[in-house]
Amino acid sequence: MKKEFIEQQKARLEENKKALQKELSLFAEKDEKIKGNWKSTFPDFDSSETGGAKLEIAQDEVEEYLNRLPVEHSMEIKLQNIDLALAKIKKGTYGKCDKCGKKISIDRLEACPEAQFCVDCNSKP
Ligand SMILES: [Zn+2]
Repeated sequence: MKKEFIEQQKARLEENKKALQKELSLFAEKDEKIKGNWKSTFPDFDSSETGGAKLEIAQDEVEEYLNRLPVEHSMEIKLQNIDLALAKIKKGTYGKCDKCGKKISIDRLEACPEAQFCVDCNSKP
């Protein structure tokens, strides 16, 4: 694999990482206890309402929170994969499948720079 290609992938990974962290920080905060883990924050909508309106807002907040969880989770996994890919670049094993050790195709890495597995292993659970 060409050095330039790896450099280019590294830059892309770092860019993606920054963008993801920025997006995540809008509705989640870093877990101080578990590295790489993020916690969705509970939304705080306008609480100046009272009575029925207040209850409705509370319901909206719960709904919003529940909507955030899967989004937060998938972004968190993507971030972890980016970190793994960056670690592989450091070790010089970038582009190798973590399961079978074969090379991951350039096409696949271009589409998904944080790919951990080759197409074959990725399609097999
Ligand atoms: Zn493989």
